[in-house]
Amino acid sequence: MAGKLFVVGFGPGSVDHMTKRAREAIEESDVIVGYKTYVDLVMDLIDGKEVISTGMTEEVSRAQEAIKQAERGKKVAVISSGDAGLYGMAGLIYEVLIEKGWEKETGIEVEIIPGISAIHSCAALLGAPIMHDSCTISLSDHLTPWNVIAKRIEAAAAADFVIALYNPKSGRRTQQIVEAQRILLTYRSPDTPVGLVKSAYRERQHIVLTSLGEMLEHDIGMLTTVIIGNSSTFVHDGLMITPRGYERKYKLSSAVQPLKLHERLRPEAEPWALTNMRSLAEEAYEKVAAPKKQTTERLEVAVSPGVVNKTFTPKQMMDLARIVGEQGMITYTADHYLKVTVETERPDDIVRELLEAGLTVAPTGNVCVIKACDFCEGEKKDAIPYVEQLHKQFGGMDLPKELRLGFNGCGMACYGAVHEDIGIVYRKGAFDLFLGGKTVGRNAHPGQLVAEGIRPDDIVETIARIIVQYKEEGYANERFHKFFERKKEVGGFAYGQTIKAEPAACGE
Ligand code: SF4
Repeated sequence: MAGKLFVVGFGPGSVDHMTKRAREAIEESDVIVGYKTYVDLVMDLIDGKEVISTGMTEEVSRAQEAIKQAERGKKVAVISSGDAGLYGMAGLIYEVLIEKGWEKETGIEVEIIPGISAIHSCAALLGAPIMHDSCTISLSDHLTPWNVIAKRIEAAAAADFVIALYNPKSGRRTQQIVEAQRILLTYRSPDTPVGLVKSAYRERQHIVLTSLGEMLEHDIGMLTTVIIGNSSTFVHDGLMITPRGYERKYKLSSAVQPLKLHERLRPEAEPWALTNMRSLAEEAYEKVAAPKKQTTERLEVAVSPGVVNKTFTPKQMMDLARIVGEQGMITYTADHYLKVTVETERPDDIVRELLEAGLTVAPTGNVCVIKACDFCEGEKKDAIPYVEQLHKQFGGMDLPKELRLGFNGCGMACYGAVHEDIGIVYRKGAFDLFLGGKTVGRNAHPGQLVAEGIRPDDIVETIARIIVQYKEEGYANERFHKFFERKKEVGGFAYGQTIKAEPAACGE
């Protein structure tokens, strides 16, 4: 019989905050391995099972024993409080297995079951202190040299992270929290809100809201998690809250927002964004840098005659060949553009020359690519201003993954807009919208028809809603069709609810 190792994070300790999979794994297991205090916390679930519990610093022998039991064919649950992959047993189990020559394909099966870590359970009790970038730092210097820990505290403090300090103090280690406070106070105000949470969601739960300057006047022990706010964290009515930054663009008390959806992504509405800062920095650099440092870089851009225009003139082709040169590369892509790749010391000059040749230049990679038809060589021109507007606003925008927005000028949709991530088809003076298509692969499929007859005045706003949500909520490298499937609703359109297409004559 094949054994199996579950490495289970069971959360803060109360059964209500344990995941269903964590309970199932414990129930399925023949043997439970854990630190004695943790075993006591799940006692109700392990009746009749073999239990191997050891003391606090015996993690390695626990891991070795658990592996031995699984190799004998037993199902073994190694339990950790919080999350097994965050200061828990997951890493150690893999390390011990690898030492023994374990391979994923042939060795015993391992399943890591995530749990709610202290940073999340304590944050929930305090209010919403980790709404922005945050990190965890363990002050235990049993396995990590103190100078490394001190550097991490300093870096996190300087970078304005919300910080959750784990293992802040024990009977023997009393100075680490004092030293941590000293480092933090060199970067943050003594008034910075601090939450101290002891035994979250357990019987002896105790919560204190204090400040960085006064936190050491309170009881901090082995079971306390210390959450230090960032420079914008505030306290309201006993709650510790870190703003995400919505107030920069939104009026939180008003139902009507000063910036419309599509306006929120404009550079002038994001003066703090890297792209804008970089242009200012570049401008300053241009003024002071003499002589300019020359370094070679790889320039890769998408070149086409235009968003709508599909015809290169012979002169443009000759200009393109001259600009790219014999060492450069021009590749024709399935997306109807030429990919130009050049190793160069002067990328800005090359882009400028391409633009001067009347060509359209766009970035490649994980950006928004606008793919329009040629509108019957410009004869069916009514919808052209809308695709140009979409291109101006979203073309080349950085996104979690390449997003293809297909735009066709009539119901023939002969440029295949309905198969793109977002497909827009102009028909009878309005727009039909398709979401979540997939152009390639064995499971290629058209997008889901989510709306017909979107008014021209509304189409840019509608697309902005979809793209803004994908940009803000998509995972890195998550394709749009997967995102639509995961979120179930994007831009107000529900996944899986295709509307019935109105019958249309060919080309209508
Ligand atoms: S989609 Fe319609 S407008 Fe566009 S090129 Fe094809 S037939 Fe012409």
